Amino acid sequence: MSDCLFCGIAAGEIPAEIVYSDGAIVAFRDLNPQAPTHVLVIPREHHVDAAHLAAANPALLGRLAGVAAEVAESDGLGGGYRLVLNSGADAGQTVNHVHLHVLGGRHLSWPPG
Ligand code: 5GP
Ligand code: ZN
Repeated sequence: MSDCLFCGIAAGEIPAEIVYSDGAIVAFRDLNPQAPTHVLVIPREHHVDAAHLAAANPALLGRLAGVAAEVAESDGLGGGYRLVLNSGADAGQTVNHVHLHVLGGRHLSWPPG
């Protein structure tokens, strides 16, 4: 989608600090980090949210979690980390291109806000 921010990052048209990239997936550091590690893992394919991605390409949704684990390992998050998929306005989703948040490097309280 030409007007999608994360499609623009995946295409290299909008700058971001990329930490992982392959033919299907890109991971980059969040512009407004909520923890010492805050990385967003996205498919290059445009899907609005996790449910749409799961319906269209469930294997790719699984691969996002695999890349998140690689990011967590390379950032030294052996003590644990959190994966978040905000879906819809009530959950605080602000960018309508599915993105898996990888958060870690500090204690993360539960329940989330
Ligand atoms: P959401 O609230 O949709 O789950 O998460 C969107 C995330 O994208 C937010 O954490 C926000 O800080 C991040 N974000 C928004 N615009 C940009 C940008 O231009 N570059 C990067 N790297 N992150 C962004
Ligand atoms: Zn997109």
